[in-house]
Amino acid sequence: MFKKSLHQIDQKHHFKLYKRFPITLVRGSGSRVWDTEGKEYIDTFAGIAVNSLGHCHPKIVDAIQDQASKLVHVSNFFTTPPQVELTQKLTKLAGLDRVFFTNSGVESIEGAFKLARKYGHSAGKTGDIISMEECFHGRSIGAIAAGKHKYQEGFEPMPSGFAHVPFNDIEALRKKVDQSTIAVVIEPVQGESGIRVADKAYLQEARRLCDKYDALLIFDEIQCGIGRTGKMFAYEHYGVKPDVLTLAKALGSGVPIGALLATEKAASVLDYGNHGTTFGGNPLATRAALATLEVLEEEKLVQRANELGAWLMKELNKIAKDEDAIKEVRGKGLMIGMELAFPGAGVMENMLKKGILINVASGNVIRLVPSFVISKVELTAVVLALKESIQEEKNKQK
Ligand code: PLP
Repeated sequence: MFKKSLHQIDQKHHFKLYKRFPITLVRGSGSRVWDTEGKEYIDTFAGIAVNSLGHCHPKIVDAIQDQASKLVHVSNFFTTPPQVELTQKLTKLAGLDRVFFTNSGVESIEGAFKLARKYGHSAGKTGDIISMEECFHGRSIGAIAAGKHKYQEGFEPMPSGFAHVPFNDIEALRKKVDQSTIAVVIEPVQGESGIRVADKAYLQEARRLCDKYDALLIFDEIQCGIGRTGKMFAYEHYGVKPDVLTLAKALGSGVPIGALLATEKAASVLDYGNHGTTFGGNPLATRAALATLEVLEEEKLVQRANELGAWLMKELNKIAKDEDAIKEVRGKGLMIGMELAFPGAGVMENMLKKGILINVASGNVIRLVPSFVISKVELTAVVLALKESIQEEKNKQK
């Protein structure tokens, strides 16, 4: 079917929720994807921080194919070898005691919020979950209640029990957290809000306050976890450990899987029947996640994300120096934001014409979250094309 008719069907019958690119993708390999017309693109999206090993890594393909031929799904009334192995591996890696598997980021967050409420109740508390004003935790009612106001509009009434503070503002956090608080939830590196990095002192203070008031410190590493920032978990950059950790995105290399991890003390408030899922942690998804963690280790890709990210940041800063349309370059590892002085949509279109897929977050921030296997040659092409595309856009606006 031609590209045009596919888009027409999509426009007519899919919910109008995504502003689609005018291309249809059919194939991927490493950091490249191809559309229905056979055109090749360098992919700096990586499925928005999902395909960290690149598209169709042979070990992931093998693992999925092998598991699909053995056992795809059973109820969580049964254990399966891949799920148990992943339980062991992930709790060890994160230094947390228990894990619950989900199918997405937002389910991990919802689980964290339910856990926080139960934890609070067990201490006689019914206070707030405190989140950051510009944060993003997903699209369920609970997650948008914790999220930024923009995503709440039209979906009111919001559930009660959520309060917001400005990100990285220590004084505001001190004023808000008290003995009634049940949890503080933070993305150590915010993604959707345009790659904003938490200050070390801020996370340290959040830890201190949560300890003082026996509230749970929840780190949402759904986007910034699993090596993205150049460490397996972003919190490792800070030396601040959460009580509860949420993961998803890169965990299964594209096979939907998320995880909620917690200390024994926090997890112990949930008992049989308090929470659950049909699909979460099924053998296919957990096997894909196991293979993902194995490849990250074997190919030392977290280290690569760290080194390549530092190099890319330097290259981007070089173009930013002579370009007043670039307001800031920021991030950690291969999670980099380039804030523009104008909306990024035009730059995105210019890049597409040059055969490069880029994503824009928060309207004017180019979000670069490529795979960890992308080459310096490919990234050099991205940087050059970005420089040209920004200039082209600036000229258009004159
Ligand atoms: N939390 C963070 C930090 C995210 O970046 C996202 C998605 O972008 C979510 C939660 C929601 O994840 P999902 O889209 O898998 O539900």
